[in-house]
Amino acid sequence: MIHSIANARTHAGNVAVKTASGKYTYQDLLDRSSQIASDLLNGRQHLNEARIAFIMNPGFEYVATQWGIWRAGGVAVPLCVKHPFVSLQYVIEDTAAEQLIFTEEYQELIAPFESFKNLNLKEYHSIGSEIGQLPEVPSTQRAMILYTSGTTGKPKGVVTTHDNLAAQVNSLVEAWQWTAEDQILNVLPLHHIHGILNATCCPLSVGACVEFLDRFDPEAVFKAFLEGDVSIFMAVPTIYFKLVNVWKEYSEVQKQEVLDKLSQFRFMVSGSAALPVSVLEEWRGISGQTLLERYGMTEIGMAISNPYDGERRPGYIGKPLPGVGVRLFDESGEVVEEGVAGEIQIKGSTVFQEYWEKPEATVESFTEDGWFKTGDTAVIEDGYYRILGRNSVDIIKSGGYKISALEIEEVLRKYAGIKDCGVVGLPDDEWGEIIGAGLIADEKSLDMNQMNAWLREQLPNYKIPRKYIFLEDLPRNVMGKVTKKELKTLF
Ligand code: ATP
Ligand code: MG
Repeated sequence: MIHSIANARTHAGNVAVKTASGKYTYQDLLDRSSQIASDLLNGRQHLNEARIAFIMNPGFEYVATQWGIWRAGGVAVPLCVKHPFVSLQYVIEDTAAEQLIFTEEYQELIAPFESFKNLNLKEYHSIGSEIGQLPEVPSTQRAMILYTSGTTGKPKGVVTTHDNLAAQVNSLVEAWQWTAEDQILNVLPLHHIHGILNATCCPLSVGACVEFLDRFDPEAVFKAFLEGDVSIFMAVPTIYFKLVNVWKEYSEVQKQEVLDKLSQFRFMVSGSAALPVSVLEEWRGISGQTLLERYGMTEIGMAISNPYDGERRPGYIGKPLPGVGVRLFDESGEVVEEGVAGEIQIKGSTVFQEYWEKPEATVESFTEDGWFKTGDTAVIEDGYYRILGRNSVDIIKSGGYKISALEIEEVLRKYAGIKDCGVVGLPDDEWGEIIGAGLIADEKSLDMNQMNAWLREQLPNYKIPRKYIFLEDLPRNVMGKVTKKELKTLF
C-alpha cells in the first residue's frame, strides 16, 4: 500500500478520515504516519518485514498506525478489538510480533502481554513528533497478515505483499469506479478484508473520504446516512438484516426520509456471506438501492462481483472482476461447463503469498498449475456465478446427491414465520448425511405438517430437511457468519 501512501501527496488537502472526534486530511495521515514509522524504527534503517500488531478503534489512529508500519517496512497485523485475550495471544505468538501499538481503552485487555519478553508495548499517544529518515520499501515486500474469519476452523494468517494489496485495490477501484469525490460510511471490523481493503484501502487509494463509526449500531448508521454526506456503504448480510428491523419501527415520515436520502447513494455493497434474496428485496424497498453483492476472501481479495453498471442479479455473486483469473473446476480436474457445479479457483496478482508459517497448508491450497483452491462451490448460469456454499460444510452429500445448504436456506426463509435459518449435513448410516435445519421461529405457532407439505411443493424429496431444531439465534462469528460446525453440534 506504499503506492497509495506515495500517491497521497497529490491530494494532501482532501479529507481522508472522518470520525466523531473530527476530520483528518491526507496531510495529517502523512505527518502522523511518519512519526509512527520513525518511532517504530527507533534508529534502525528498515523494519525488514518485522510484524507489528496494533489494536485500536476504527478511525484516524488506526489508519495512521497502519501507514506508519508500512512506511517503516513492517508487516501490519491488525488485531480484533472484540477478541478475548487468548485470541490476541494466538495472533501475537503466531506472528512473533515485535511490537504492539494500542490505544488507552485497550490497556487493560492487553496488560498480560507486559510479561512477554520479546514484545514491545507502545501506547499510541505516547508516540512523539520526532521524524527521522524513512526507508525505501519495495512493493514486493510483505505488507500485511490478516487472519481468516475462523468460520471453518482455527483462523489462518494470510500473508500479502504491497503488490498483492494494490492489485486487489485496483481491481475494485476500476470495477466500482471509485473517485476522490466519494465518501463511504465504514462500520465494519478492521481486522478483516472487507472492512480494511474494500471499505478503507480502496477509498484511501484515490483520495476519497472514509467516515468511521466506532462500532456497528443500527440507529447510528441511519443517523449517519441521514445527517452526513456519505454516498457509499458496505456491510455483511446480518447488518442489513438488523437495519431492516430497526427501519420497521420507523414512522411513515421517517421511512420516506430514508428512501429520499438512500436512493441518492452511489452504491451499496453486501458480501462476506451469502445475501438472502429476501434481504436484498426488502432493502431495495427501503432504500431504492439494489445491493451490489460480491464474493471474495482473505486469501484473494475480491474475485467475483455483480456489475456496477448493468444488471445485479439477486441470488448471484456476478462475474469475475477485472484482472482476476477465475475458473470452476470439478473433482476429476476439468473445467466445468455452464450449469455444472465446480470449485471456484483463482489466479493472478491479487492472490496471497502464503499462509504464515504453514508451508504445507499453502502448498495444499494450490493446484499443480498454480490456481488457488477457494474451497467454495459455484455454478455459472447465464454468465452469472451462483454460490452453492463451502465444500466442507455447505455441500451436503446425501444418498449420492450433492445438495447445497444455501439453496435450502433460501427456500426455508420464504416460509412465513421463519425469520432465519441455517442448514447443515448430519452424519447418517444409511444416507451418508441427512439434512438438518436450525430455525429461528416460534416453535408453537409453526405447523410442521403444513410446512413440510409446502416444502414438498418447492423442493424434490431428497432436498427436504429431516431434522429440525429451534433456536433463539444462529451461532455466528464476529463477521456475522454462521459457524456451521457449531450449528451441527446443536443437533
Ligand atoms: P476460515 O477460512 O477461517 O474458515 P472464512 O473463510 O469465513 O474463515 P474469510 O476469508 O473472511 O474467512 O471469508 C471468505 C469466505 O466467505 C469465502 O470463502 C466464502 O465462503 C464466503 N463468502 C464471501 N462472500 C460471499 C458471498 N457473497 N456469498 C457467499 N459466501 C461468501
Ligand atoms: Mg476461508
